[in-house]
Amino acid sequence: MTSAHASDPSTSYSPDRITWIRLSSCYLPLATPISDAKVLTGRQKPMTEIAMLFAEIETRDGHRGLGLSYSKRAGGPGQFAHAQEVAPALIGEDPNDISRLWTKLTWAGASVGRSGMAVQAIGAFDVALYDLKARRAGLPLSKLLGAQRESVQCYNTSGGFLHTPLEQLLVNAAASRERGIGGIKLKVGQPDHALDIRRVEAVRKHLGDEVPIMIDANQQWDRPTAQRMCRVFERFNLVWIEEPLDAYDYEGHAALAAHFDTPIATGEMLTSAAEHGELIRHRAADYLMPDAPRVGGITPFLKIAAQAEQAGLSLGPHFAMELHVHLAAAYATEPWVEHFDWLEPLFNERLEIANGRMLVPTRPGLGLSLSEQARAWTRETVEIGQRA
Ligand SMILES: [Mg+2]
Repeated sequence: MTSAHASDPSTSYSPDRITWIRLSSCYLPLATPISDAKVLTGRQKPMTEIAMLFAEIETRDGHRGLGLSYSKRAGGPGQFAHAQEVAPALIGEDPNDISRLWTKLTWAGASVGRSGMAVQAIGAFDVALYDLKARRAGLPLSKLLGAQRESVQCYNTSGGFLHTPLEQLLVNAAASRERGIGGIKLKVGQPDHALDIRRVEAVRKHLGDEVPIMIDANQQWDRPTAQRMCRVFERFNLVWIEEPLDAYDYEGHAALAAHFDTPIATGEMLTSAAEHGELIRHRAADYLMPDAPRVGGITPFLKIAAQAEQAGLSLGPHFAMELHVHLAAAYATEPWVEHFDWLEPLFNERLEIANGRMLVPTRPGLGLSLSEQARAWTRETVEIGQRA
């Protein structure tokens, strides 16, 4: 059956083709070495830089997209190497077939797994293809996906790390609130539990009862400690308690979520939609915290968000606010976006914040372009294909 519209050759679809890709390995230095509970318990060293993987894609018809992935501590060179190896599979492909291309790239490296570093490398291409599609449509990414809202409530994490002395913590929290950021997150999970409690108590007292506060133990409690600490923290009326247990302890998280009034948040360390599916099936979180680059891009993120929505979970995407503000804007119920200013020097644009909320950019695509500073911090680039 053909309608008049469908048979009109001027409206029929003609595919575009990916002709050129540039991959960049960029190292973003951090002003201060960063410590969360994983450092205080001796598992990791303080973080001094973030390895960024950028994918710039161009098509025969002159459309462009910018995508990113990242790694904290080890992993940056591996992501870059894997991306370089699979990138030629995109040349000549229709950039609109994002789902098919994700599958194609994933199967190209399936023997090293369909989670973790392999899909994180693919995530940079996937984000770039979504950016390209939205830009070509003249739409912000949030609108391409089907936006629910034009701003998203946001909370600050960067002021509440464990290397920050208590006095400075209070100054940082007040400064974030003055900037218009809605919530304040504090890191806990240090070996001295009394110190954790004192810091949370001081910030709650300083900010008053109404300000949303979250805490994050970065997986450093065992089950008995988590039980005890969740019980102590019930009286602070927290928005959530994040990663009280090892990221893969689904049963343990589920028991805490069932037992305590304070919502449990987790999911940032998981590296695929399949792992998030397990977490959701276990009802291990009240707030799910997927990270699009870490799970392999927007394609798997949307699968996770659909499952989370079906299960009635709240959403708090992890890190990379520049990308997640768009994805959070398309989620059914009101999410929280994590405010980190760390990535800001990489881009020419800035996100606007007002009245506790981050405004979703109205520029096409992600609304981002790489800064001169990002180019200056780039250690390695590789180009695949030919510019049209
Ligand atoms: Mg966290």
